[in-house]
Amino acid sequence: MSTAYLNGEYLPLSEARVSPLDRGFLFGDGIYEVIPSYNGRMVGFTPHIERMQRGLATVGINLDWSVEQWRELCTSLMKMNDMGNLGLYLHVTRGQDTTRFHAYPEGVSPTVFAFVIDIPPEQTVDRNLVKTLKVSSARDQRWQHCDIKSTALLGNVMHFQQGYAAGNNETILYNERDELTEGSACNVYVIKDGVVNTPPLDHQILPGITRLILLDILRKDGSIPVQERVIPMSEVLAADEIWLTSSSKEIAPVIMIDGKPVGSGEPGPVWEAAQKLYSANKFNY
Ligand code: PMP
Repeated sequence: MSTAYLNGEYLPLSEARVSPLDRGFLFGDGIYEVIPSYNGRMVGFTPHIERMQRGLATVGINLDWSVEQWRELCTSLMKMNDMGNLGLYLHVTRGQDTTRFHAYPEGVSPTVFAFVIDIPPEQTVDRNLVKTLKVSSARDQRWQHCDIKSTALLGNVMHFQQGYAAGNNETILYNERDELTEGSACNVYVIKDGVVNTPPLDHQILPGITRLILLDILRKDGSIPVQERVIPMSEVLAADEIWLTSSSKEIAPVIMIDGKPVGSGEPGPVWEAAQKLYSANKFNY
């Protein structure tokens, strides 16, 4: 049984309890993070915590934890849960109210919950060994604040299920102008003629930390050009390679979209080069 953290206490996950009057339960009124760690080494700890602190400030949840307090919590959870490949799941809600009323309550302390989830081992850098993914595509029907890592994920869950029900691993989404946004739980990249293209940061996508790290590594290395720009779905369907990134996936090659092969239908050379660079540099973040 894994060890979790709830409001100041470490306890077995099976014993963790929150009230049904918690606004996280009633309204999905909370912010979360998942930080990947491999044998006690985290990837992107500081940018993950900064994103969470930005999200909390944006939705007016007042929690005055320092970055060091979060680091202590993450370190303790890794130690108590035998290291390995762990996603450190951090979850802060507006807290437990005394009734169900939409307005932000006064004098309520946020609920802080954390536990660990198993994530896959570190990604291979060999295109003959990598697990390939298949995706569906669908019109993005989520809300207008996809840049906030809200615990209210019903829109994402419904989109993920669309792809899953069709026998695919993910669903990639496009807006009403047929422009790529992101996946239901990942960022998306379209590779054409050796250039890595990905949608720019705005309200339509989550500013992924894997995206942040990958783009920084690629730009510092300089051998693979990167463009953040609006991408019509016609370009997605004509891509040489498509990748997905997230904290648990690292960089994952997509070989099929809506039943049609992407490029050659196999993981490509740009993927292999990019994943090599990512694997070599990710622990610097
Ligand atoms: N977009 C969405 C909608 C996500 O849920 C996630 C995380 N699973 C990402 C992008 C990728 O973010 P990160 O690289 O920080 O895990």
